Amino acid sequence: MTENSSKRFANKKILITGASQGIGEDAALYFAREGAQVAINARKAEKLEPLLKKLAKPAAGEHLIVAGDMSVEEDVDRVMKEALDGFGGLDVLICNAGMQIECPSEDITFKDFNAVMAVNVTGVVLCARAALKYWRENEREGNIIINSSVHQQVPKPHYLGYSASKGAVGNIVRTLALEYARYGIRVNAVAPGAIVTPINDAWTKDPEKYDATAKHIPMRRPGECREISDAMAFLASKESSYITGQTLFVDGGLTLYADFEQNWSS
Ligand code: NAD
Repeated sequence: MTENSSKRFANKKILITGASQGIGEDAALYFAREGAQVAINARKAEKLEPLLKKLAKPAAGEHLIVAGDMSVEEDVDRVMKEALDGFGGLDVLICNAGMQIECPSEDITFKDFNAVMAVNVTGVVLCARAALKYWRENEREGNIIINSSVHQQVPKPHYLGYSASKGAVGNIVRTLALEYARYGIRVNAVAPGAIVTPINDAWTKDPEKYDATAKHIPMRRPGECREISDAMAFLASKESSYITGQTLFVDGGLTLYADFEQNWSS
């Protein structure tokens, strides 16, 4: 037995979309450290090469780069095929790729709204479609984890596409979970609050803005990528074997309505 074959995700094959930075990159490093083979996705292969070099060696086989745009049907189908063929199977699909565009809602364009929905909703559905087809045709059990957001629940003015897309993720999870539970295929989401990633550099790296933002979070701090990876690992593991159709909020209490911390309403 090699050192890695005793690790928590040894011999598991895991595809992570949107892995070139932020939460997806951390998840890839995390699952590789725990012995998994990971297929890492982003639009361009060269953005993934530095990460590939940093990944711990899997317990068996090799890691894969599967580059392609999650908002383009042909790319998603090819990426899924490359992962399934390259690994000879798939245990966990992590749909993490996501984006947002800021705009007052009265000015939102058809193009921008659809661009957000294409990555955050359609791309997720297309990835899930390929994984589900594979698992059903091969009579295998499977596990899908979608990276949602607190904005699945909390409105996000000026980000209508993002709010709509993450709201949709909640029902995608519940619908797929119900449709496939009988086959041993679980579908869940993690819903991060404010996490320290490059997209939040503007406030996490500025002490004044940090304090202004942190006071809206009951735990008074943003989350670390590691805390999202931990939640994904729980949903990917046998410790969550009876859990499906759920969204696990990992948000330091953000969805508990921080404004109600002091009693102002009665
Ligand atoms: P990020 O912008 O740092 O990383 C996003 C990743 O997705 C990148 O690797 C990017 O290349 C990839 N990506 C974007 N569009 C893509 C496409 N069309 N095809 C393939 N890859 C694409 O973002 P992040 O903060 O790490 O967020 C990851 C996920 O977590 C997203 O779904 C986001 O909505 C969600 N989330 C993040 C936060 C946060 O505070 N960072 C909070 C809630 C939810």
